[in-house]
Amino acid sequence: MREIPPTAGLPLCWRDLLSLGHDFEADLATFLDAPLPQITCSGTAAEIITLRSFQNGSERRQVILPAYTCPLVALAVLHCGLTPVLCDLAPDHFDLDHERLAALCGPQTLAIVVTHLGGRVANLAPVLHIAARHGAYVIEDAAQALGARWRGQPVGLAGDAGFYSLAVGKGLTTFEGGVLLARDAALRHTLRMTAAAIAGPDRRWEWRRSLELLGYALLYRPVGLALAYGWPLRRALRRGRLIEAVGDDFSDAIPLHTLGRWRRSVGARALERLPAFLETLHAQATRRLNRLVQIDGLRVMQDADEAQGTWPFFMLLLPDQPTRDAALAQLWHSGLGVSRLYIHALPDYPYLANRLSETDTPHARDFAARMLTLSNSPWLGEAEFEQVCVILERTLTP
Ligand SMILES: *Cc1c(COP(=O)(O)O)cnc(C)c1O
Repeated sequence: MREIPPTAGLPLCWRDLLSLGHDFEADLATFLDAPLPQITCSGTAAEIITLRSFQNGSERRQVILPAYTCPLVALAVLHCGLTPVLCDLAPDHFDLDHERLAALCGPQTLAIVVTHLGGRVANLAPVLHIAARHGAYVIEDAAQALGARWRGQPVGLAGDAGFYSLAVGKGLTTFEGGVLLARDAALRHTLRMTAAAIAGPDRRWEWRRSLELLGYALLYRPVGLALAYGWPLRRALRRGRLIEAVGDDFSDAIPLHTLGRWRRSVGARALERLPAFLETLHAQATRRLNRLVQIDGLRVMQDADEAQGTWPFFMLLLPDQPTRDAALAQLWHSGLGVSRLYIHALPDYPYLANRLSETDTPHARDFAARMLTLSNSPWLGEAEFEQVCVILERTLTP
């Protein structure tokens, strides 16, 4: 009974749990070599705090989002009473279609959200250029990319604001949590004022999250994951509940509160091991990429020039949906760390239907239909990795 997690999260040590009084924000500032970041209760909360701050004193109502991203990103926009406008992806890629973006952006655009999906760094230059032309803000969604860099600086600092997620499965975790960055000192002040106004302390949430973090410390290892992740996954798959299987079943109720002292301290202690962990993942990814790119018909998402992403998992694009589904039929329930990222393009989630503007997003739908993910967890051994590669090769050979 062993289960590889779908993403390479940083495991906790008992030592992490026995700490108090560490200054997580200061330690993150050192790790990132960036101005003091702001800790929030989730990545989604960081996005809401940012949008609320931008909204104040602006008549603009639209926020442009990639049509394939975490549904929470759209729910946060709706939470603020703003209109999510979807921008299609470039063909065969997670990045925005920049021509489409230029056409969508206008005097009504409050902000553009650009996403560093799965640790891969987005092509920021065209987005910054288009936003500047229309006076729109840029928010970098770096939820899955803590540690990634673009032109030598951490992602999240090129735009006006950027956020990382500290949720389970995103790397460093406080079970739920977020980190908010902004280059500009005046904006950083505004973000803190907004957070103080809309996200105060909440003891019930803090208790719940603290217990959940203890559970994570206990179970985040191959045997524990068979119970905590594998068992519910296979049950959801048997019932055909794919949105549940990947944990995309979100609702409009978004908790907004502070992140308590103990969990911050745990995060700070675990952060000490993050640089070495990211190094290990990078080295393993470099080796395994060499093998993956040799598989005929498989396209592997990689970084562009000037970018050093992180490697929680590989995003693999197959030639068509039937082939992708045939591969998943053999691999998804196998415990080998193969999964899907988000099940649908945003317009295809029942709970988002009719709440989004611009739903003609063929490339995003195509990406959702042809992509699968392969974990880069160090627990996935060489033999197991090879097993996955062979199954992919067989599936791709007509
Ligand atoms: C997880 C995620 C979010 C939301 O972060 P939470 O901390 O879970 O609220 C936003 N964007 C992307 C791309 C994500 O993966």
